[in-house]
Amino acid sequence: MTDASSSPKSTSSTAPHLTTQMLINGELQAGEGHLETVINPANAEHIVRIAEASNKQIDDSVKAAEMAAKLWSKTTPAERAGYLLRLADTIAKNAGYLADLEALNCGKPRHLVERDEISAAVDVFRYFAGAVRCRPSTAAGEYFPGNTSMTRMDPVGVVAAIAPWNYPLMMLAWKLAPALAAGNTVVFKPSEQAPLTTLAFAQWVSDILPPGVVNIVFGRGESVGNGLIKHPGIRMVSLTGDISTGQKVLQAAYRTVKRTHLELGGKAPVIVLDDADLAKVVQGVTEYGYYNAGQDCTAACHVYAEKGIYERLMAELQASVSRLTFNDPDDAKNDLGPLITERQRNSVASFVERADELPHAEIVTGGAIPDVAGYFYQPTLIAGVKVSDEIVQREVFGPVVSVTCCDNEEQALAWANQSEYGLASSVWSGNIKRAMRLASQLEYGCTWINNHFLLPSEMPHGGLKRSGYGNDLSMSSLENYSVLRHIMISHD
Ligand code: NAD
Repeated sequence: MTDASSSPKSTSSTAPHLTTQMLINGELQAGEGHLETVINPANAEHIVRIAEASNKQIDDSVKAAEMAAKLWSKTTPAERAGYLLRLADTIAKNAGYLADLEALNCGKPRHLVERDEISAAVDVFRYFAGAVRCRPSTAAGEYFPGNTSMTRMDPVGVVAAIAPWNYPLMMLAWKLAPALAAGNTVVFKPSEQAPLTTLAFAQWVSDILPPGVVNIVFGRGESVGNGLIKHPGIRMVSLTGDISTGQKVLQAAYRTVKRTHLELGGKAPVIVLDDADLAKVVQGVTEYGYYNAGQDCTAACHVYAEKGIYERLMAELQASVSRLTFNDPDDAKNDLGPLITERQRNSVASFVERADELPHAEIVTGGAIPDVAGYFYQPTLIAGVKVSDEIVQREVFGPVVSVTCCDNEEQALAWANQSEYGLASSVWSGNIKRAMRLASQLEYGCTWINNHFLLPSEMPHGGLKRSGYGNDLSMSSLENYSVLRHIMISHD
C-alpha cells in the first residue's frame, strides 16, 4: 500500500500510476484532512491512502468556482464545446490507463470497462459539446402590445456534483459535461471508495480548463459531501446515490433553497409475457441482471414472468446464470467482478439469507459467498418470490435476480408498479401491441421493449417516485443545469 502523503507512485510495477491530488482553483494539491484508505475489492488489498479535503479546502473550492463563474458563464456555446471536446479527446487518448485504474479500484473486468464505460464517458462529453450549440428555443413574441418577450436559458451558478462508486468515470461525465456545457462551474466529489479515475482526470483538467471552472475534492460523504451541500456558495446539488443520501441533500438544501438534481436508487422490473422470445430474454437477464455485479440502479433484477413461460424461463436462466464467470485470472473470461466493499457484499448476502428463509422462495443457483480473497458474491437466481417480499421491494445492488410468476399482463403491470422506485423497467413480448400497452402504463423513467439497460447519450435518464427527479443525458439534462428566464422589451 502506498500513502499519498508520502508518495503518489503506484504500488507495484504492474499497477497503473496513481495520482492522488485534488484540484482547487487550477492547482493540484493534497488534501489536508482525514486519511482514507482506497481498497481493491477484487483482492481486498489496500491500494493507497488519500487525505480528504479540509473545511478550508472545501471553502476554497467553492470560492474558486464562484470566481471562475464570472468569466465561464460569459463564454459562448462554441467556446465551451471546444473545451468539452478537448476533455473527451484526453479521456479517449488515455482509455487504456483509465480502464486499468477503474479495474484496480472497483475490481471490474477490465475489458468491459474499456469497451463500455470509458467509451461512454467520451461520448457524453462529445454529445454535450454538440448539444449546447443547438439548443431549441421558443419564438419571441408580443404577448402584451408593444412589448416583445423572449426566454433565456442561463447557468444556475456553482454546482456541487456528488457521485457514487458504481461507474466512477461515467458518472463524472454524466454530471460534468451538461453542467459545464450549460455554463456552470462545478465542485465535483467522487465516491470515497472509487476516486482514482477522477483524480487522474483532475491533472488533465488543470491543463485544459481555466482555473476554478472544475474543482475536484476528495472525501467521505459525512464530512466533505456534507460540507459541500451545506455551503452557501453552492446554488445546486446534483447527487447520484442512495435515497437516504438524497434525503440529506434535501434537508441541507432547504436552508438556502438550493436547486437539487437527485438520481437515486432503482429496482427494475422485467416483465416477460408468454409470447416473448425466450432465448432473447435469457440472454438479456443474464447480461443485464448481473453486469457490474448488479451494482447498477437499472439492473434487470426482478422478473415478473407470465405463467405460460415461467417454468421454461427458470430452467434456461438457471443454466445461463450458472455459467457466469468471475475471478478468473484471464480478465477476458470474466463477466462480473466483486462488490465494491466487504460491507456491500455482506449486505447482499444478508438479503439472500432472508429470502432463503421464506417458505415459498427457492435459490436456484448461487446464494453464497465464494471462498476467495475479494468481495465476490456468487451470481444468484431466486425463484418463487412474492411481490411483497423484501427481495422484490428493496434494492439489493448485487448479482441477484429474483423471479415471480404471474397470471397475466394486468397482474404483472400492477405488481411492477407496486414499488417505491421508478427508474427503469422492461417488457419482453413478441406482440408489440401488448408491449406498448404495458410500456405506456409503467411508472418508470425508462421502459425498454425486448431489451434492457442501453442508455444513449441523446435520451433522458431519470427516475420517478423515490428514484428521484431530474434527468441525466439528453437535452433535458442541459435544461436541468440551467435557469429559464423571461426578458421583455418595450418598444412603444
Ligand atoms: P451513497 O449515497 O452512499 O453515496 C453517493 C455519494 O454521496 C458519495 O460520493 C458519498 O460520499 C456521498 N454522500 C454520502 N453521504 C453524504 C452526505 N451526508 N452528504 C453529502 N454527500 C454524501 O451511494 P453509493 O453507495 O455510492 O451508490 C449506490 C447508490 O447509488 C445506490 O442506491 C444506487 O441505486 C444509486 N445510483 C443511482 C443511479 C441513478 O442514475 N439513479 C446511478 C448509480 C447509482
